[in-house]
Amino acid sequence: MDKELPNGFTGFSKKKPGFESAAEALRKSKARSDIQTDHGSMQVPNDSAFAAWQADRKVIEKDQHLFSSNNPNAQAASSFRGKGAFFPSDMRSYLSHRSDLAPVNGIAFSDERLNDIKQMDRRHAWVEIDLNAIHQNMLSTKAMLHPNCKVLAVVKADAYGHGAVQVAKTVLRSGADYLGVASVDEGIELRKAGIGAPILIFSEPPCASIPLLLAYNIMPSIFTVEFAVQYGEAADSVGLRAPYHLKVNTGMNRIGVRFDEVVDFLKRISFHRALDLIGTYTHFATADTSEAMEFRIQQNHFNEALDKMRDVGIDPGIIHAANSAAIIRYPETHYDMVRLGMSLYGFYPCPETYGLIDLVPAMSVHAKITQVKSVPVGEGVSYGLLHRSGGFAKICTVPIGYADGLRRGLSGRTDFIMNGTQFPQVGTICMDYSMFEVDQRSRRSTGGSGKYDPQVGDEVMIVGADGNAVVSIEEMADTLYTVPHEIAVGFGCSRLARIYK
Ligand SMILES: *Cc1c(COP(=O)(O)O)cnc(C)c1O
Repeated sequence: MDKELPNGFTGFSKKKPGFESAAEALRKSKARSDIQTDHGSMQVPNDSAFAAWQADRKVIEKDQHLFSSNNPNAQAASSFRGKGAFFPSDMRSYLSHRSDLAPVNGIAFSDERLNDIKQMDRRHAWVEIDLNAIHQNMLSTKAMLHPNCKVLAVVKADAYGHGAVQVAKTVLRSGADYLGVASVDEGIELRKAGIGAPILIFSEPPCASIPLLLAYNIMPSIFTVEFAVQYGEAADSVGLRAPYHLKVNTGMNRIGVRFDEVVDFLKRISFHRALDLIGTYTHFATADTSEAMEFRIQQNHFNEALDKMRDVGIDPGIIHAANSAAIIRYPETHYDMVRLGMSLYGFYPCPETYGLIDLVPAMSVHAKITQVKSVPVGEGVSYGLLHRSGGFAKICTVPIGYADGLRRGLSGRTDFIMNGTQFPQVGTICMDYSMFEVDQRSRRSTGGSGKYDPQVGDEVMIVGADGNAVVSIEEMADTLYTVPHEIAVGFGCSRLARIYK
């Protein structure tokens, strides 16, 4: 039987083979387009369109028996319903009797009931976050540190796409001392979630944000006199302290007070009684490269700055420098605290770190097949028709694309995983869709009838591991000449729902 269906929505069509005449389909689609003509001003449907809509509903009601469990066709027909089945007969419970709710389609729906529809049930693509993996990575990292070394967990960029609040709560339970963010609003999000741990921003925000820093008790990094003075005065004027970390530029040349100007800088702001130097830190530019000389130069510059501070009687406070790569590779740079970013999420910073620590990736990316088809030999697939069918494969479509973080540059250069086997992604990755190919000539090594038989509704992993089949964010990053951070943020901060395990 040909599984290909004309309209992409296989659920209903499958249940009613040959039920709908072409004329009827045309009438319905006309009725629908009448209702939906104007999205700008919510148009109340005219009488005839409304009658057609109601007729549509009657057809569904009439077919209800097809969904009942004692109908032998129901099972086969419902491959997409899977778990959390939806029954059209439930539809009336979604209507509201409140007349004050503005109807969109001429009928008032219940907001509460609509909001009950879970994110997972709104789209056949999602991200899963394994918080236990994050816990494990914290423990593996802590095992490398000296007993008094604090851990600052970096949760900027929504925790590299893993969800800042959920990750922060997890790592604080696993023994993190500090949280690191990139912006004021990222800090506020954590405070609003009830998190009380010290929060450091890795930047000097605009002076106009100082009231927010004080109100939410979020520490800035400081490297300009102007910001330091305004911050100190603002705190003093309401009887508060102005805690901060000093950022030292030891060679990365991004932000910070230059390493040989630190004492001079501190003297210029030291008149201000409210300023509290809580910590002093720098950031390495080459902790993840194979060559270590530039790293050593930065380390020496940092030690030099710290020595000069101590020489003039300034206590640098909490000293920190190491990012993930340096944590794993250079224990001599752990100082009083380390800043744990990418490896908290299970990414190896560079090949030199393989074997030095056990990391578990926390993010996986999933989708369900929404269409399966055989494409005649020679026909193309996706934009540009760049992939040509050999005629021996099933082309499967999943609703995930580059607007979900599946970068277009990976087109034809990544695999999807299904049932522990990797299948090649084929054709250009679209904004909302991508395709993969299941070769009908190859056979399963174990089980089943022999051939791979992909079905609509089958689950596919875009990123993840299942037995020997592995597609990692590190691999994708390598293919694209970038870092795992960028790929993780791409998936995690996209429109995909995040599900926590
Ligand atoms: C992002 C960031 C880190 C974390 O780096 P990873 O390589 O992800 O461990 C540490 N320190 C600063 C200042 C950062 O901006």
